[in-house]
Amino acid sequence: MIKNTAAQMSSALEKGETTSVELTKIHLDRIADVDQKVKAFLHVDGESALKQAAAVDADRASGKKLGPLAGIPLALKDVLAQEGVPTTAGSKILQGWKPPYDSTVVAKLKAAGVVILGKTNMDEFAMGSSTENSGYGPTFNPWDLTRTPGGSSGGSAAAVSAFEAPLAIGSDTGGSIRQPAALTGIVGVRPTYGAVSRYGLIAYSSSLDQAGPFGRTVLDTAMLHAVIAGHDPKDATSINAPVPAVVAAAKSGDVKGLKIGVIKQLQGDGYQTGVQARFSESLDILASLGAQIVQVDCPSFEYALAAYYLIAPSECSSNLARFDAMRYGLRTGEVDGASAETVMNATREAGFGREVKRRIILGTYALSSGYYDAYYGSAQKIRTLIIEDYKKAFTQADVLVSPTSPITAFKIGEKSEDPIAMYLADVATIPVNLAGICGMSLPAGLADEDNLPVGFQIMAPAMQDQRLYQVGAALEAALVSKWGGHLISKAPALGGAR
Ligand code: GLN
Repeated sequence: MIKNTAAQMSSALEKGETTSVELTKIHLDRIADVDQKVKAFLHVDGESALKQAAAVDADRASGKKLGPLAGIPLALKDVLAQEGVPTTAGSKILQGWKPPYDSTVVAKLKAAGVVILGKTNMDEFAMGSSTENSGYGPTFNPWDLTRTPGGSSGGSAAAVSAFEAPLAIGSDTGGSIRQPAALTGIVGVRPTYGAVSRYGLIAYSSSLDQAGPFGRTVLDTAMLHAVIAGHDPKDATSINAPVPAVVAAAKSGDVKGLKIGVIKQLQGDGYQTGVQARFSESLDILASLGAQIVQVDCPSFEYALAAYYLIAPSECSSNLARFDAMRYGLRTGEVDGASAETVMNATREAGFGREVKRRIILGTYALSSGYYDAYYGSAQKIRTLIIEDYKKAFTQADVLVSPTSPITAFKIGEKSEDPIAMYLADVATIPVNLAGICGMSLPAGLADEDNLPVGFQIMAPAMQDQRLYQVGAALEAALVSKWGGHLISKAPALGGAR
């Protein structure tokens, strides 16, 4: 049962072939078995998960009408507030903080009967591409424990990849759902900005942050997407429009007559040979399924990374000002006669990690009065140019595609001392965030040179998220029949068929 998809688990529950308590137990056992190696979780709450599961089973037994994911276990990125459960955003500064409320994503999961197993590891405040920036140690890639699972939602991706949970929630500010999905051989979606409420999502860069689903299949991911999306009056940037029909699209998967645009700027130099090979193979498959492949030009994408690394740190320098030792988590340096300012300084010095401090300094500098126009202002102009590039490209194609990540999973320690090398991991995912549109990564196979998973990225216009699933499902079906199973079933050791 643990290797099944969430959709299969859901139908087994409906038919009475299993119970939610049983499903929850086997996942808790799996976590107990493998998580000392993978380190996907920061906090596992077996007791409350089993309680939640028992409640869903009781509801089912009493004939109550339940949603499709009722009783299915899930791993939650530690960036989302869950009432009474330690929530750290991977930072020491929030160690011990228990939110007094649920984020909207958590409230929606609970209302749908989804069983939350625990909170997953992440780069501190979602800043990073490898989960090595966590204040609590790294997460290890289930395909190869010497490598990172990507980041910042590396814990969530690793949990799904290692069969510790069939589903997980991540957040994606510059690629943090799609890139770890690519590096761990699973599916991850960054929904349209504003499609999933940010209420209770600990803020990194508010104009870019968006929570979204992970699954081992396109359909599972769509089912979770449908549960967490929707308008929320508690989030001023939440879109008040019907949720796109993502589940129906994932079930119908068809590309006949669709135009698929390959972005010229997101390929070539810097993209690993095996990544390029799997990418062009997927294009051939899509063409053989009846799609028309066209080339599109997005000249401003060249500046996306630079613009992102001004905008995101600028917003983070403002957002992280709230960690002042007075309201949440850690407080240190409280000696007799110490001023509030001294305590704040000591706490921020002790509580924030290196990358977070680097970004606060960068952002504060970029926003300072003498430099605002030169840095932040220019970055915002680039952002507009990127939006224009996408607008034009979407007149030429229904969806756009690229490799998700230029490289496969890299070694722990390989990039952790070189921030610029780490930033490059998101070169293909960041444009989506700057434009506020949606993107998916799904497994395209293994790179020949290292036998590690390669991600295929699909992008669609704002609130056209169903197109991701429609194209993703078609490609997935063709690949699965070619491989004789999902890619994840080919994973060695922890991720695979043990
Ligand atoms: N790696 C990017 C960063 O460090 C993206 C992170 C994210 O999407 N949360 O900012």
